[in-house]
This record gives sequence, C-alpha cells and structure tokens, in this order.
Amino acid sequence: MMRMITVVGGGFAGVEAAWAAANRGERVQLFEMRPICETGAHKTDFLAELVCSNSFKSKLLTSPAGQLKAEMLALGSIVLPTAETHSVPGGEALCVDRDEFASAVTEKILNHPLIEVIRQEFTPDMANTLLGQGETLIICTGPLTSRPLGEWLAGLTGKKHLYFYDAVSPTVDASTLDRSIVFAQSRYDKGGDDYLNCPFEKDSYLAFVHELVHAERALPHGVAADDETLEKIKYFAGCTPIEAIAEGGERSLAFGNFKPVGLTDPRTGRRPYAALQLRPENREKTLYSLVACQNRLKWGEQKRIFRMVPGLENAEFVRFGVIHRNTFIDSPKVLTPWLEMQDYPGLFIAGQITGVEGYVESAAMGIYAGIAAVRHTRKVDQIVPPRPSAYGSLISHLQDPTPREFAPMNINWGLFPDPETEIRDKQIKRNWKLKQAQDAFAQWEEKLTETPNQIQ
Ligand SMILES: Cc1cc2nc3c(=O)[nH]c(=O)nc-3n(C[C@H](O)[C@H](O)[C@H](O)COP(=O)(O)OP(=O)(O)OC[C@H]3O[C@@H](n4cnc5c(N)ncnc54)[C@H](O)[C@@H]3O)c2cc1C
Repeated sequence: MMRMITVVGGGFAGVEAAWAAANRGERVQLFEMRPICETGAHKTDFLAELVCSNSFKSKLLTSPAGQLKAEMLALGSIVLPTAETHSVPGGEALCVDRDEFASAVTEKILNHPLIEVIRQEFTPDMANTLLGQGETLIICTGPLTSRPLGEWLAGLTGKKHLYFYDAVSPTVDASTLDRSIVFAQSRYDKGGDDYLNCPFEKDSYLAFVHELVHAERALPHGVAADDETLEKIKYFAGCTPIEAIAEGGERSLAFGNFKPVGLTDPRTGRRPYAALQLRPENREKTLYSLVACQNRLKWGEQKRIFRMVPGLENAEFVRFGVIHRNTFIDSPKVLTPWLEMQDYPGLFIAGQITGVEGYVESAAMGIYAGIAAVRHTRKVDQIVPPRPSAYGSLISHLQDPTPREFAPMNINWGLFPDPETEIRDKQIKRNWKLKQAQDAFAQWEEKLTETPNQIQ
C-alpha cells in the first residue's frame, strides 16, 4: 500500500497541514464533513471558511501576529498568500473577501496533484483502523468537532483532558499592571506569592459591581452559550458568569469570588474590602488571568469595567472572558512539543483544538503539524521551534504545565519570553523580543531544511 498522510478537517489548520505535507512530497487525503454534515456555524462548503470576522489580524510586521505570519510565510503557508490576493481594505488589518478567499483556497487544494479531498464525516472507527495500520493522522477538526470524534478524543485523552466549552476569565499582560497597588500574597501567606491581589476599597468595589451588573452582554451568536447551554456548562465546568453572581446581591462577590480573607494590603496594613486575585498563566509570569472572572460581556465592556479594578487601570488584555462551545484538548498533559499525542505515535493534532485561538494561529499550527507528520512518516528526528520564535511562543503555551485553567489563546507579546535583565521601556522590550524571535526562527528554518537525521 502506498504511504499516505490523512488530514481530518478542511478548516484553517487542515488546509495548511495538507498543503505543507503535500508540498514536501507526501500523498495526502483530506476529510471534510461539510456539506454532508453541518457544524452550526459554517455557512458554505468551502474549505478554510471564515466563520465570523474576515480579518487575519495586523499587517504590521512588528506585531506578534506579524512575526507569526512572517514565520508561516517562510514555511510555505497557503492561507496567507491567498488572503493577500483577495484582500479588501481593512486599515491596519489584513481583511479578505471571505467567499473569494475560501473559494481560491479550495481550488488550490483540489488542484494539488498529491491531495485528495474526501467529503465525508470522519468517524472513530476510521481513526482506529488507520492508527492500527500504523498510518499518520492529523486531526484538525476545530472548535466544532463532530460529536463522535470529540467523544473519541475524550476517550484517548482521558475525559478530563478534553473540553467541550470555554469558560475562561480575561488575561492581562503582566507588564501593564500597576505594581504600586497590586500586591503579591497568598491567603494567610500559605502557598508562596504566586497570586497577585487587586485590593478594593468599599467605594471602588461598589462602583465596579454597579457597572458589572449593568454591562452590555455579548449576544449569543453562532455557538456562544445561550441560557440553556449555559446551565449545562455550569454543571459541567462548575462556573457561573461573574455578572450573574454580582446580580445575586451587592456583596455577593465580596463574599465569594473576591473574598479578601487572609490578605493584608501592604499599603494600608489591613484587610481590603474585597480583592480580585490574579494567577500566573505561564511559567515566566508574563501573563496573569483574573481568577473566577469568566463572563459573557462584550469585549469593549470587559476592558472598560475590569480597568475599574484597582491596579488594572492601564492593563492590556491579551484575552477576554468567554463562555461558548469550543472543543479543545488539555495539550500540556497530552501533546508533545511537535503536536503528536504522547501516548499515540502517529496521531497529530492541530488548529484551535490544540489550545490556540484564531484563524492565523490555527493555520500556523496546521503548517507545523504537516511538517512534523512528514518527519514522522520518514522516521526522522523532530526539531522543535526555538522558544523565542513566534512558533516557539505558541508551543510554549501548549506545553506550559503551570496549574491554570488551560484555554485557547491568541499570539500576544506576553507569550514571547522576557529578557533576563529587565527592560522597563515597553517599546524597547518589544523590539528586543521581535529581534530574538527573528534570529531564532531563521536558525530553526535552516535546520528544518537540512538533511534530517534518521531515527535509529
Ligand atoms: C462562532 C465562532 C466564531 C469565531 N470567530 C472568529 C473570528 O472572528 N476570528 C478568528 O480568528 N477566529 C474565530 N473563531 C475561531 C475560529 O473558528 C478558529 O480560529 C479557526 O477556524 C480554527 O481553525 P481550525 O482549522 O482549527 O478549525 P475550523 O476552521 O473550524 O475547521 C475545522 C473543520 O473540521 C470539520 N470537521 C469537524 N469534525 C469533522 C469530522 N468528524 N470529519 C470531517 N470534518 C470535520 C469542520 O467542518 C471544519 O471545516 C470563531 C469560532 C467560532 C466557533
């Protein structure tokens, strides 16, 4: 039988994985279940359909997304050059005519001599058969993975390592916190100083609660959680949106999510009226999430209201809170740095389902999974992206074992490693990160193209 790589899901990760593998000389079969089965959010039968906005983020090469896109282009992306060809005016962002773009990607994939597109729902039986035969499989079925395949993945990863919903709190860039207000302390000084605390006085707390209760909520669109689904999520994830808790009474947060017990504000020497805690999101502590602040507010409202919290007045948000349907695996527990399941050789996972978020990031993971799958089938060593590169920064999010609510994340400055010696100026620090990323990526790219070492 002729060797073949199987890619499942013709979204952003899937088309990139298929393209990357085929352009490196491997035969690929790409399964896409639309239009035979629907996801509830996609509207067409095109591959690489944009389900919501038509933006591929900033065109600025000096932004985190700009660096990631430069790396993707160097590795041979299909999505980005096609987006350029079908771009429409979008200011600083690379925006596209969605139908022209998706139709052009579909054409290119259909016309590739080494890719066969199969319009069929890929089932657990098919996956087991292929894996049993020692074939290489890349699962890229995205946030709306079909139920049977999702259940199958849950079985492989151990049920507690697969999530069907996002219920995440906002995350902020650590360098934008006001450290003269925010203080590090665990309750009763037990457990080190990993947690940071934003101390409220009574007035600031009541003002915050008032705005929270009256904030504009995001309208359930596509697969955002409606009230019935939310009930199931609450049961599933044990979480209630913070605005719903606040509606329960003026002091409900002060007695619950923001209870100040065991904390002493070093500025006043006494217990604050209430405290919002921040928990590190990564090993390097460049990102912090707002503990127990999952919510369904509009993003602009989240920014406005959480900036009322003492110490967060100038906070930059790298991720906003959401509660919606989203299938993803607990990558730090189950994936290798080259996107292969630790316990299932030959089974690669890519796209949003790995715990990255967004069209660009998902496509980026697709390219890397395609490259890694080719190396696997040829039995050559994997070469992991270097930590300072944009790829390395995303992979570091997927590998970071820090205890946290693991959830999909966009590329952002906080994921790039900080310099060892502190640089206070934000712009100089970002320029430094960018230069490190560029240099590290160039070296990695060179290694990837060198004749690989055969695994013994
Ligand atoms: C409602 C909604 C709105 C979003 N809005 C945005 C946004 O504005 N901007 C942004 O950057 N990101 C947005 N996202 C996230 C976006 O969907 C992802 O970033 C991106 O599409 C993920 O790429 P992917 O390849 O991982 O998954 P997808 O692009 O979703 O591709 C997965 C593909 O797998 C197919 N599939 C699923 N199960 C099977 C199966 N068993 N067999 C065969 N095929 C299967 C699906 O039909 C789909 O085509 C949104 C997501 C949702 C759900």
